[in-house]
Amino acid sequence: RAIEEDEFLLYYQPVMNAESEKLSGFEALIRWQHPRRGIVPPGDFIAIAEETRLIIPIGRWVIREACKQARIWQRAFPKLELNISVNIAPQQFTDPNLIDDIRDVLEKTKLPGQRLKVEITESAIMENPHEVAQRLNQIREMGVQLHVDDFGTGYSALSYLKSYPFDTLKIDKSFVQDVMKEREDASLVKAIINMAHSLGLSVIAEGVEEEAQTHFLQQEGCDYSQGYFYSRPMPENEFQ
Ligand code: C2E
Ligand code: CA
Ligand code: CA
Repeated sequence: RAIEEDEFLLYYQPVMNAESEKLSGFEALIRWQHPRRGIVPPGDFIAIAEETRLIIPIGRWVIREACKQARIWQRAFPKLELNISVNIAPQQFTDPNLIDDIRDVLEKTKLPGQRLKVEITESAIMENPHEVAQRLNQIREMGVQLHVDDFGTGYSALSYLKSYPFDTLKIDKSFVQDVMKEREDASLVKAIINMAHSLGLSVIAEGVEEEAQTHFLQQEGCDYSQGYFYSRPMPENEFQ
């Protein structure tokens, strides 16, 4: 019903260049504007949407809406060269229309594929490795970049990094949050950054909440930074 009633909306969270601390792009994060409950976070409904496969029409809406918005901001602020990141659930990779949908959206919105980033978790890859590999290659062929979301939290073999066409690892916030408190987390974050760079991948740290964390990440050569320290996800008008 929420799909029919058009009750979903996107919030946007800035992704910063870690070194210059300039805006590099934004991640689109879904919310449900419930008629009685107000704004419902994705943690409360994405799992059910996945179980019922309603994530396929919802995800299609997210891609379309995010690209439309990205194109509007690209026109309004051409010098910023903003990138948009969209989360894609594992079930969406089983949708035979996914590739055509993305191609169609890029064509209709005239958003260059290079501006769009698709975020997918390690566990999504492992659920369906062959189908996902094929789809990822097709997405990559449109110039769209691929990010591994929540990197380091799945039970996956690192070998997938050489057989899939990823561009970026997104270090999970669970590592970033304790980077100033736990020596092990600091070591893991450093190791992930070094590994990514030697594989030719870039790195985004998510869940950056404190200034000290931004200094640590800059020192370790992390490429991009995202988190409450810079800004919480916010509605379109505030983001603009
Ligand atoms: P995610 O993709 O890992 O997104 C990051 C989550 O961390 C977001 O929660 C964001 O608000 C939150 N976050 C950002 N910075 C900080 C920080 O500094 N500290 C803390 N503690 N949290 C921070 P959100 O928006 O509630 O989204 C939760 C999850 O729901 C997302 O995790 C993603 O897995 C899923 N999700 C959101 N939008 C979509 C969507 O359009 N499609 C799909 N399939 N999943 C989505
Ligand atoms: Ca994400
Ligand atoms: Ca995450």
